Order: sequence, then structure tokens, then C-alpha cells
Amino acid sequence: MLQEIGVVGAGTMGNGIAHVFARAGYRVWLADVSAEARERGLATIRRNLGREVDKQKLTAQEAEAALGRIRLAAELEELAGAGLVVEAATERFAVKAELFGRLDGLLGDGAVLASNTSSISITKLAAVTGRPRQVIGMHFFNPVPVMRLVEVIRGLQTSDETFSRVRAVAEGLGKIAVEVNDAAGFVSNRVLMPLINEACFAVMEGVATAEAVDTIFREGMAHPMGPLTLADFIGLDVCVDIMRVLVEGLGDPKYRPCPLLLRMVDAGWLGRKSGRGFYRYEHALPDRPAAASS
Ligand code: NAD
Repeated sequence: MLQEIGVVGAGTMGNGIAHVFARAGYRVWLADVSAEARERGLATIRRNLGREVDKQKLTAQEAEAALGRIRLAAELEELAGAGLVVEAATERFAVKAELFGRLDGLLGDGAVLASNTSSISITKLAAVTGRPRQVIGMHFFNPVPVMRLVEVIRGLQTSDETFSRVRAVAEGLGKIAVEVNDAAGFVSNRVLMPLINEACFAVMEGVATAEAVDTIFREGMAHPMGPLTLADFIGLDVCVDIMRVLVEGLGDPKYRPCPLLLRMVDAGWLGRKSGRGFYRYEHALPDRPAAASS
């Protein structure tokens, strides 16, 4: 029933999600409003499948077959036969609500609508459809082909059947599915963002340098990267947006973004993607941070 999957949004997350579904044997429609994003998404999938071949995780034939299962869709109508659609479009409620309304009208009665949102309420998205029991959150992590976790988020009206189906699908992709209820930031960002924010306060108050904070977490807590390196990787603007969702959704000012973080975003220091955040990056997306900047 779920052999055909739709993925909406071919950006950072959407192309990774299409990649893992195709690799697991599903036929995938990958939709995006932008033709350039669709082509770029497919090129990224081709490159990442090639890396898996280099690492001997896949044979060249398996990679070719996976790529052959992906079709680009210029129109949402092409997704009408999908048993599951995972929406990974831009993180704005209006964008997602419009997509959910349209998809609800297009898909068959049994189809499930999932969102990869980092922070938008699944319950609110479900409410724009006529199938709230079949709406769920499927929160993948970046880079999707590498990271094993999927937070499976139950909206207030999500049925047990939908939850069980989606958990089974995620596990079939080789992922570890963790059940979470719908609340701002779910679990991942609700716990991670205060850590990043507190690390920013420590730097702002001169308690320690960014490198010192990161070293403490890497070497003392066995984190693979420190919180400020991670913040640069996520994007400082994205961190601020998520902190604002936490303040609004949970009604507690303890989640307010650190003033240093706000100033850095105002300056255009957004982390790796802009070449500068807590660290400087020689290229837009280097493998490792270069010299510290603040
Ligand atoms: P992105 O900007 O890389 O990609 C978003 C894509 O959506 C763009 O290509 C854009 O053209 C497309 N799009 C916008 N409106 C559309 C529409 N109406 N129909 C079809 N396509 C449309 O963003 P991203 O980082 O891939 O994030 C996508 C979603 O995943 C967001 O909800 C985000 O919160 C979530 N998310 C992101 C990360 C991350 O690390 N980047 C991690 C987990 C979850």
C-alpha cells in the first residue's frame, strides 16, 4: 500500500528523505516548486549514493536502481497515488498548511500525510485537513542518509494505526523511531536549544571562549561536537527561530534567545552557511571549523 511515496520539498532534508526511501525500495515522487531545487536535489542524491558505493555500503547497481526509482514532480498532482507523503518544505506554517490542504484533496482515503517540521504543531497542520487521524510528524535528522533517529510525533488526533504504520515504515528504512507527543520543539529541539543558548550566554558573559565550551562538551561529556560548533552547523538564524517557537509555544521566557546570538544573526554571522558564526569557515561548508572568531 505504501510502495509509492511522495516527498514535498527537495532541499536539504527532502532530498535526503527521498534518498533513504528510494534506497529502501520505494518508488518516490520528489516535488518542489522550484525546478532548480528539484534538479539540485536529484544531483545531491546521485552524489550521496555514489559516496555510499565508495564506502561499499551499496553496490553500483543498487545505487543506480535506487536513483531510477526517483521521479521529479513539477506538480503536486503527480503524487496522487502515494500511500504516504512526507512534507519537507520551507518551515512556515502558511506554506505547510496550504500544501496539507491541497494534498488532502489529492490523495486516496487511506494515505498518510507526514511533516518533517522541526517546530510547527502537527495538531494544527492536521486541522487543515479532513483526515486528522492520518496526519503525523516524521522528524528526520540532517544528514538524513547518515542519522538514524526519526522522532515520530503524534498530533492530538493521530490514530494508533497511523502511528504504528509510520513507525514500521521508519524502522524499515533502518531508522530508530522514537515516539513523541506534539509540543513545541518536540523533544530534540526542546532539550538541545537551551543547551546551545546557555553555551552562548557563557561566551557572552566571558565565562569561557567558544572553543573552551566546545572542548568541555566533546572531551568531558563525549559529545561528538560541542554545542557552538553544532549551532554553527544548524544555522544561528534557525536556532533563533526555534527558540522563539519554544518561548511562544511553551510560554516560558527561559527559552529566550541569548542577546549575543541575536547580534550575530543581525550581523549576518549565520554559521557555516555564511562562512562565519562562532567559528570562521574558509569555505561555505567546510568539514571542520577553522580559527575561532569571537
Ligand atoms: P530547504 O530550504 O533546504 O528546502 C525547502 C524546500 O522547500 C526548497 O527547495 C523550496 O523550494 C521548497 N518549497 C517551498 N515551498 C514549497 C511548496 N509550496 N511546494 C513544494 N516545495 C516547496 O529546507 P530544509 O532545511 O530542507 O527544511 C525542510 C523542512 O525540514 C523544514 O520544515 C525544517 O524545519 C525541517 N528540518 C530541517 C532540518 C535541517 O537540519 N535543515 C532538520 C530537521 C527538520
